[in-house]
Amino acid sequence: MTRVTETLRDLLQTLLRMVPWPTEPGLRVIGNPGRESPVVITCNYDLTVRRLTRALRGIDAWLVVAPSRGINVWCAAAGGLLTTSQVVTALKTCGIEGRVQQRRAIAPQLAATGVVASEVARRCGWKIRFGPVYAEDLPRYLRGSSRKDESMRRVRFGWDERAQMAAAWGFPTSVVLGLAFAIAQPAWAIAIVAQTWAMSLACFFVYDRMGRGRWPLMWAAATACSLGAVAAGDGGGAALATAAGSTTLIMAVLTYDFAGGTPIEGGSHFEARQWHITLDPGRCEGVYSCWEVCPEACFAKHEETRKVEIAHASRCVKCGACVVQCPQDALFFTDQDGRRIEPDVIRRYKLNLLGHRFETGETGDSGETTAN
Ligand code: SF4
Ligand code: SF4
Repeated sequence: MTRVTETLRDLLQTLLRMVPWPTEPGLRVIGNPGRESPVVITCNYDLTVRRLTRALRGIDAWLVVAPSRGINVWCAAAGGLLTTSQVVTALKTCGIEGRVQQRRAIAPQLAATGVVASEVARRCGWKIRFGPVYAEDLPRYLRGSSRKDESMRRVRFGWDERAQMAAAWGFPTSVVLGLAFAIAQPAWAIAIVAQTWAMSLACFFVYDRMGRGRWPLMWAAATACSLGAVAAGDGGGAALATAAGSTTLIMAVLTYDFAGGTPIEGGSHFEARQWHITLDPGRCEGVYSCWEVCPEACFAKHEETRKVEIAHASRCVKCGACVVQCPQDALFFTDQDGRRIEPDVIRRYKLNLLGHRFETGETGDSGETTAN
């Protein structure tokens, strides 16, 4: 694939990020790996596999692509499409077992909400370590004896990710609205497309920084801008009413699942928004799995007591990764009434597109399965 083709494919998959882009699961060879080379696992979202392959250029490694129905790691793991079962199946069927001596593999950190490392070890003997959040940090991680500093563990959601998410929401929304207006009111179609892109950029670059009352604030600002633009262009009453209506509609679409579309907020308007991460220090035995997988670096290690502390609870995005991975069930959520939500519930019930949990048939620690 030429560089131009690759860039165009990146662009298309970024603009249509909401659509699954599956690539063939199985074993890929990076460089010239041998029996001691690292084994890296990822999902079968085409953009992720190609980015990871690019990041690993110059390194000899085995890449195991597990089936996730063409969905990216974070969404697939949270949604029950990249789980213990997919990883066990991929490791057992892709042919890697005959090619390496060790039984250690590196999974993406953001898979920790769905892939239970202790269950993978119990079911197939492979020891899973969760690597960095970002593929670009993987070479540094591999060269640094598989140690992660905070910059590798923490989700950044920097300018590039914000731009990608703005494009991923702005593109389909502007196409749908642009086409609708092109048919119904062609003179307004370009203005609607421009309005959608402007609001999408504003939403993903500043919305999360606006604090409480941000929805009415941004809606008021966007409405004022669009009404001002219509008035400056001598639009009539119908154009003003349409501008106000389209502003509300676009705001609703862009912010409905802002938490689900970004890795920096928890629960959105769903029930998990009210949950609190809770630690039972008496059960904690200092395995530090929670510390390794938390995308917000909420935990502090206390090496002298071999325990952790939830040092930054306010950062918690309720992803559940720490709860899923803790072998002692020392971590759990409590709801707004102080009721404990059992860790096994978080392991077994994943999120659908509306943010509600459904049973996946995955196992907790018992190893029993339920029907899918
Ligand atoms: S809370 Fe659980 S995962 Fe975290 S250090 Fe303690 S035992 Fe380990
Ligand atoms: S502390 Fe919160 S953000 Fe961190 S892993 Fe646990 S649930 Fe996720």
